[in-house]
Amino acid sequence: MNYQKIIDETYVDILSSGNPGKVATYIPELGGVNPDQFGVHLITVNNENYSAGDSETPFSIQSIAKVFSLAMAYKHLGAKLWDRVDVEPSGNPFNSLVQLEHDEGIPRNPMINAGAIVICDILTTLLDEPKRDFLEFVRQLSGNNSINYDRNVAESEDATGFRNAALANFIRSFGNIKNDIDVVLDFYFHLCSLSMTCRELAETFVFLANNGRTLFGDRRVLTPSETKRINAIMLTCGFYDEAGEFTYRVGLPGKSGVGGGIAAVQPLSYSIAIWSPSLNAHGNSVRGFEFLERFTTRTGESIF
Ligand code: GLN
Repeated sequence: MNYQKIIDETYVDILSSGNPGKVATYIPELGGVNPDQFGVHLITVNNENYSAGDSETPFSIQSIAKVFSLAMAYKHLGAKLWDRVDVEPSGNPFNSLVQLEHDEGIPRNPMINAGAIVICDILTTLLDEPKRDFLEFVRQLSGNNSINYDRNVAESEDATGFRNAALANFIRSFGNIKNDIDVVLDFYFHLCSLSMTCRELAETFVFLANNGRTLFGDRRVLTPSETKRINAIMLTCGFYDEAGEFTYRVGLPGKSGVGGGIAAVQPLSYSIAIWSPSLNAHGNSVRGFEFLERFTTRTGESIF
């Protein structure tokens, strides 16, 4: 498969079809990002690399980090994790409060804000220093010690994160948050602020295409069965109320973030990261979605 040729052709196609959508402004620090940036990086499980555009420019990975916090919590707790957070698609926006009342504080899944905040609470209980230990985990996944939080993004989100504070307090009222709300939210805002290039994001994600092993130091992070489950959750929940649409159009497990990133995996084959900051109404990258639809159509490869 000539991935570079297909990436190049698809990239040119997408560039010529305009750039609709809007950058996220509800986190002020993200509002100033140039919407015309557009990068792609694909890494195979044999460590072959292909890229196009702004693939070496760092961006805020936002909710894509929820996959890493889930992997870390699952590794520590195993199936006991599912007592605190469910694995059902929510069919609602990523920051929605509505189902929590009915579901008595058990978030529908770990890919929406409510679920990720509960995962942050679980990690706060489990880890000595959550922000430091989580960053270390992500650095091990990526084999890259330079990956870091973007303090300005974390502070900007903290200053405006009233909805996340509402979610955390509401969940706490049902007893499904055990630690101090401010500590849990500070951790959540930091993990959302992780800054990576497309190359770094694809490298960090590739363990999910490789049966749970990183390519860097050949470390086992998850068993093949655990890896399958994380990929299944991404497939059904990774794009919130657009998860069906992404699966229908692209056919790969993946995860988006409001920084405009999307990471996806073709199990046993590759991981791919795309970044284009203009978002549709569901908070997903317009050109990222479109790129992946055309890419999997051209390659003829998907999990289906
Ligand atoms: N940090 C963002 C928030 O909590 C993450 C949302 C996202 O990327 N979908 O609102």
